[in-house]
Amino acid sequence: MTPISSLPEARWEAVQRRDASSDGQFYYGVRSTRVYCRPSCPSRRPRRENVTFFDTPAEAEASGYRACLRCKPTEVSAGQWAVLHVQHLLDTVEPTPGLAALAGAVGLSPFHLQRVFKAATGVSPKGYALARRSERLKAELRTGASVTQALYGAGHPSARTVYDRATDGLGMSPGRYRAGGAGQTIRYAVVESVLGPMLVAATERGLVAVRFGEAEPLTAELRNEYPRATLEEDEAALRGHIEALHKHLTGRRDLALPGDTAGTAFQRRVWDALRGIPYGETRSYAEVAEMIGEPKAVRAVAQACAANPVALVVPCHRVVRTGGAPGGYRWGLERKRELLERERALAQSGT
Ligand SMILES: [Zn+2]
Repeated sequence: MTPISSLPEARWEAVQRRDASSDGQFYYGVRSTRVYCRPSCPSRRPRRENVTFFDTPAEAEASGYRACLRCKPTEVSAGQWAVLHVQHLLDTVEPTPGLAALAGAVGLSPFHLQRVFKAATGVSPKGYALARRSERLKAELRTGASVTQALYGAGHPSARTVYDRATDGLGMSPGRYRAGGAGQTIRYAVVESVLGPMLVAATERGLVAVRFGEAEPLTAELRNEYPRATLEEDEAALRGHIEALHKHLTGRRDLALPGDTAGTAFQRRVWDALRGIPYGETRSYAEVAEMIGEPKAVRAVAQACAANPVALVVPCHRVVRTGGAPGGYRWGLERKRELLERERALAQSGT
């Protein structure tokens, strides 16, 4: 399977089949009702002569169409979510995860993931990883391309937003990140947690990473992200952070730890909004998009959640799909489910 052709005939054919794998690749508007839909919309098929096609929801709305209330074309579908999340993992995780690991992270069978991914992008996850290797955002930053150039080059949804140069509570300035962490000392440790091994890494300014997984890949990922920083394994130096994380995982609600992470202005707005979601509660990707005043940016919100470098500190696990399905999690759906269950139970017991 390849991405669907942009020829109207191919698109119309996909609409007639209610082809869910075409979702996100285009939208169709119905002239008589001025409503636009995703290809898989369950509503009755319109007449061909009433149908017009758009590449994006924004294009449809600019032409005076409103989003269909049934298929909610501005929201991210399960398949799209899986593809976005897997793309993100392939962009950021070293060594490149295998198909089984990727499938596990998005809660699909390897077979189904392969099919959905290929339908949306035209290549297998493996092919995508190979193709992207040379053009990854972080790689470009490291080789000295300008920050803006690198953002455009990597095709980020936020490429048009201004890069936030200020270093606030959550931010490593792009200049420092671009240098691969040159001149920085990052202390790290992999400790056991109730969710399995947890990597904690921090500069003297704050946390650069809180991640779950296996010790070796986690450490390799950190090295790859900050190739020019001095990495020191030093659990003692991180004791305060680690204790706060353990307490949080076992029931203390607040977690006020400083971050020192790189992100675009858009990602930071999302991450800040996530920190406002109360313990024991969840929000949908669409609600978070509303919270930051960008109701159309649901996909970009999902990507920002998937790019969160500091688990728990930025509680991206509290963002779920509309309807409550967990959606996905950079560190595995099982962990997300467990975290949400723990928080819900503890919030209800009032401890
Ligand atoms: Zn519809």
